[in-house]
Amino acid sequence: MLQRKEPAVSHIFARACAGDLPEVARGDGVYLFDKSGKRYLDGSGGAAVSCLGHSDPDVLAAMTAQMKAVAFAHTGFFTSAAAEALADKLVAHTPPGLDRVWLVSGGSEAIEAALKLARQYFIEVGQPTRHRVIARRQSYHGNTLGALASGGNMWRRQPFDPLLMPSSHIAPCYAYRDQRPDEDTEAYGQRVADELESEILRLGNEQVMAFIAEPVVGATAGALPAVPGYFRRIREICDRYGVLLILDEVMCGMGRTGTLFASEQEGISPDITVIAKGLGAGYQPIGAMMCQGRIYQAIAEGSGAFQHGHTYMGHPVAAAAALAVVTKLTDGGLVKRSAAMGEVLAERLLAQFGQHPHVGDIRGRGLFMALELVADRDSKAPFDSADKIAGRIKKAAFARGLICYPMAGTIDGQRGDHVLLAPPFIISESEIDELVDKLAMALNDVVPERRA
Ligand code: PMP
Repeated sequence: MLQRKEPAVSHIFARACAGDLPEVARGDGVYLFDKSGKRYLDGSGGAAVSCLGHSDPDVLAAMTAQMKAVAFAHTGFFTSAAAEALADKLVAHTPPGLDRVWLVSGGSEAIEAALKLARQYFIEVGQPTRHRVIARRQSYHGNTLGALASGGNMWRRQPFDPLLMPSSHIAPCYAYRDQRPDEDTEAYGQRVADELESEILRLGNEQVMAFIAEPVVGATAGALPAVPGYFRRIREICDRYGVLLILDEVMCGMGRTGTLFASEQEGISPDITVIAKGLGAGYQPIGAMMCQGRIYQAIAEGSGAFQHGHTYMGHPVAAAAALAVVTKLTDGGLVKRSAAMGEVLAERLLAQFGQHPHVGDIRGRGLFMALELVADRDSKAPFDSADKIAGRIKKAAFARGLICYPMAGTIDGQRGDHVLLAPPFIISESEIDELVDKLAMALNDVVPERRA
C-alpha cells in the first residue's frame, strides 16, 4: 500500500521561527556554500564571529590534535595545557593589569561571570551594599537573564521584564544623532559620560557595583565608536566613586576594530573585560572574562573561591581552537590586517555610499563597519519601522549571495536601521569590492537612490 509522504518538518525550534533557511554545506575562506552549491560572501562573519574565515587548516589541526589527546576533562579535577597556554597568550596581549582569565562557552556566559565577579568582589572587600549595574540605552550584553537585565535593548528585554534584576540605563555616545549643533565633539562626549556620575549619585554611590559598556557598540547600533575622550571620562568617574568598569568586547574585541582589544584605542584599562565571538572564530563555542589581579586577589585572600562555574568552562578543544586563533591574530599578523583592510573597506564604502540619499552615516573601526540608513539624509529621519527596511535588506543581500547583518533602530523607534559589516580578516581587496557591489545592489533593491 502506498504511504502518503508528509511534508518535511524541521524539529529545530529556531528554524521554525526563522522560516525557510537553506542548509549550509561547506565553508572556504570568506565564502559559505549551501546544499545547492550557491555561494555566499560572509560579509559579517555571521555576527562578527568568523574573523579567520572558514576551514582554517591551522585551527582544524589544533582541534584535531587536542581531540585525539583528550577531548574533555572537568576543570574540577584538571587544568589543560591548551587552557593554560590560551590564558598566558591573552594576558600577554591584553591591556595592563588584566591578568586573570575565566574561560566559558560564549558571550552571555562571560557577561554573567563578570557581573557575579563584581558582586562577589564587593562582598569580599566589605562593601556588600554595592549591587546595582548601570549600562547604556543602546547596548546589548547577551540573552541570559543577568546579561539581558544589564542591556538596553528594549525589544529583547520587554517580555522578560518581570524576571530581570533592576538596572539603570544612561545615554549612549551617539554623536551622529545626539551631538548638539552648539557643542563640539569633546563637550558632547563629556556631557553624555557625565550622565554616569548623575546616575551613580541618584542611586547612591554605595549601591552601585559596575558600569558596563561596549567600547564599539555592535548589534544595537552597528559599529558605533564613542567620541574621543568619552571613555577616559567614564574611567575617571568609575574611579572617583569606586565603581567597577566592565567593558563588553564580545563583538568588538579580538582584532575586529584593528587592535586586539577595542579599549586599547581609548587609552584606558577596564577592571573587567569580556570577549567571545572572535576568540573561537566560530570553530568552537568559547568566551572569556578577564579581570585585574586585585579583584582576583580579593577573592583568593577572602573566601578563596569564585562562587560560579559551568560544566564546559575551560573546555580543552575550545581552548586549543582559541589558542590557534589568537596565535594567528597576534603572531600571524591578522589584527594588523584587520586594521589595514578596514581602511580599504571604509574607503570603498565612502566612495559607494558617501552621497547615497538613504545612507546617513558610515562609521566603525577596522573591519567593523556600519551604514546607518535614513529616509531623509538632511533631517536624518529614520525609515518607518513598518517598512522593515533592515529585514528586507538582509533578504535582498542574501538572495544576491551576500551575508550582512542589518538591524532595526532600537531606541523608542527613533533611531535608524543599520547594516553591520564584519568580514573575515583574510578578506582580499577584490572580495571587498564584491562585498560593496553586492551591498549596493541589495540597497538598490530595497531603497533605490532615486537620483534627481
Ligand atoms: N555582548 C555583546 C556585545 C554581543 O554582541 C553579544 C552577542 N551578539 C553578547 C554579549 C552575547 O554573546 P552570546 O550570543 O555569545 O551569548
